[in-house]
Amino acid sequence: MKKVVKFGGSSLASADQFKKVGKIIKEDEERCYVVPSAPGKRYSRDVKVTDMLYKCYNAAANGKDFTEILKEIQKRYQEIIDGLGIKLSLKEEFTVINENLKKNVEADYAASRGEYLNGIILAEYLGFEFVDAAEVIFFNETGTLDSNKTDQALSERLSKVTYAVIPGFYGSNPSGEITTFSRGGSDITGSLVAKAIQADVYENWTDVSGFLVADPRIVDNPEVIETITYKELRELAYMGATVLHEDAIFPVRKAGIPINIRNTNAPQDKGTLIVEGTCRKPKYTITGIAGKEGFASITIEKAMMNAEIGFGRKLLKVFEDNDISFEHIPSGIDTMTIFVYQDGFVEKEQKVLAEIHRAVEPDHIELESDLSLIAIVGRGMRSTRGTAARIFSALAHAHVNVKMIDQGSSELNIIVGVRNHDFKNAVNAIYDIFVSTQL
Ligand code: ASP
Repeated sequence: MKKVVKFGGSSLASADQFKKVGKIIKEDEERCYVVPSAPGKRYSRDVKVTDMLYKCYNAAANGKDFTEILKEIQKRYQEIIDGLGIKLSLKEEFTVINENLKKNVEADYAASRGEYLNGIILAEYLGFEFVDAAEVIFFNETGTLDSNKTDQALSERLSKVTYAVIPGFYGSNPSGEITTFSRGGSDITGSLVAKAIQADVYENWTDVSGFLVADPRIVDNPEVIETITYKELRELAYMGATVLHEDAIFPVRKAGIPINIRNTNAPQDKGTLIVEGTCRKPKYTITGIAGKEGFASITIEKAMMNAEIGFGRKLLKVFEDNDISFEHIPSGIDTMTIFVYQDGFVEKEQKVLAEIHRAVEPDHIELESDLSLIAIVGRGMRSTRGTAARIFSALAHAHVNVKMIDQGSSELNIIVGVRNHDFKNAVNAIYDIFVSTQL
């Protein structure tokens, strides 16, 4: 068995965290390839090294003095080195970074040094080989990943080393310049390494014990999801549940490699296993609940709409022409409702309304704002009758009025629309009926 292990910023924020990471890796000899993030926050008001590096870059780009910020960064790394008691000097590395910043290198180069330096320290601490991501992760000139070249380079290079540290977040472009993924991109590096070496599992270590059934800011102490499929995850992520960078899923999903979300601060917890498919029965009928506030709805009414060929196309074209993405379209016989994000819509609303009138000559248009959508997701719903009934009786008991219902034919999720002020109450009521009381 071969495992790729990625550690997030909070798992590598201090020497103490490094020690936990070292113990986790050394405990299991199958953990052969390690992908570190840059040092993250040590406490809630702390600043991530990546943010400090961007600050440094901005100062340099504006011709301001950046030496103090750079010194601060160097101090953070030195504290880790001293705390680990290893013999390593990053003096030369910092001289090079300083020179490059003076020469006005790209922002991506500056940001990437967080992972680069953390990788050097971790490799030294573990006694693993350091493989610079610039040599194995490749981007096109446009900044998008060159997945074929990357896959080939990674598998070729790593076939020669049994134990290695490959820093996350960055690679290089055809001109040899450093390019980064978007923020949180070390997750993607881990996924690419796992695919290239055909790992048995991609362990993603963070500071939570996996995906939670509901948002802990809404539900008190929600349970952890034991197993979730990629499809379910996608539904929940779309509604705002995040632990993992969305682009990290694709490479491993394509190769059928499961992802295991684990907690560096509670390594005894099994975490969440993300899989392509599973015969394992979910613990509850639903796998998770996620939701978002801030939607507006536009309801168009027109007698005999159902018989008018091309009605939907003409209507949706108005939204397309105005560069507005629609989220859901529940429809009746003579009505169609379009859900959109309120923020982007408000400034264009009058223009959109006028264009709808011109395009489809409706009898009536009604606008409603401050709505929320809640997705109740679960493969267990497919074969269980009464799921919808339980959701709606829970909402009725909680005095929540349901504005909209949408169930995809995959039976993987049910989406309900409620008013923003009912949102938290609704999520709690649904969690309660499926997880706490299991009525
Ligand atoms: N250090 C980078 C960030 O803060 C990338 C990562 O942690 O994955 O976004």
